[in-house]
Amino acid sequence: DTPVMPKPPWIRVKAPGAHALDRTRAIVRTHRLHTVCEEAACPNIGECWEKRHATVMIMGDVCTRLCAFCNVATGKPTHLDEGEPTRVADAIAALELNHVVVTSVDRDDLADGGANHFARTIAAIRHAAPNTTVEVLTPDFMRKDGALEIVVAARPDVFNHNVETVPSLYRRIRPGADYRHSLALLREAKRLDPSLFTKSGIMVGLGETDEEIANLMDDLRGSDVDFLTIGQYLQPTRKHAAIDRFVTPEAFQSYKRTADDKGFLLVAASPLTRSSYHAAEDFERLKAA
Ligand code: SF4
Ligand code: SF4
Repeated sequence: DTPVMPKPPWIRVKAPGAHALDRTRAIVRTHRLHTVCEEAACPNIGECWEKRHATVMIMGDVCTRLCAFCNVATGKPTHLDEGEPTRVADAIAALELNHVVVTSVDRDDLADGGANHFARTIAAIRHAAPNTTVEVLTPDFMRKDGALEIVVAARPDVFNHNVETVPSLYRRIRPGADYRHSLALLREAKRLDPSLFTKSGIMVGLGETDEEIANLMDDLRGSDVDFLTIGQYLQPTRKHAAIDRFVTPEAFQSYKRTADDKGFLLVAASPLTRSSYHAAEDFERLKAA
């Protein structure tokens, strides 16, 4: 166990608007939807749900990987729920979401890593909720030949895959993943469909240096990644990786300036930035531009 560092004043959770939250919760329950917003106890839930943004998790809540920052249970996942794509799509339609992020646990146990399930979910959402923009936040599909092609062919609006942290911390923080592989996945997604927006994100406060962050930005731009998110790592429980430092809001602004200069189309960098935070407005702004 590692001691939990007290939170500085800028890590503050906004009280959610009760009405929007209750309505959303009811729909989420009825459709047996797993949202990252609730299950990761995301600090932005009040704000996001009021704006009709949500992040849904498909393919269960048991993951085949064991990342040191993540609170999802590790183990052997159960069968794939064939009815899930339609149920998720119906829920998104009922919630009248402007933008949805569809993500999943890693399913190394499935031959296609869950790529077909992602594709079926995107197709079902397009059918039930044609006005909702769809962002997928996918696993790395390591050793799953053809998986990426299946997801890209389903034409999400945004293809998001997080590199999560700098390469020197992979062994400790993201065992089972490979930094170069994740960069290659992002590069390949863009190559397969140049009209797709690609996106990646990292957490800071895990022990990385500013120089490593700048190098990582260069690597992502080298892979043609369009959008970048940078947020503070918060330790979910004492069993997870310890926080190395709380990055100040000023330092986040400086990361954003660096990233803007390096040519990312959209950059979100703040203590409470999450991979899916503000995804919709940003995207709307870009489409209007
Ligand atoms: Fe949900 Fe993402 Fe918003 Fe958090 S930032 S509430 S996970 S949509
Ligand atoms: Fe969590 Fe994703 Fe790592 Fe699984 S692969 S433990 S869901 S971060």
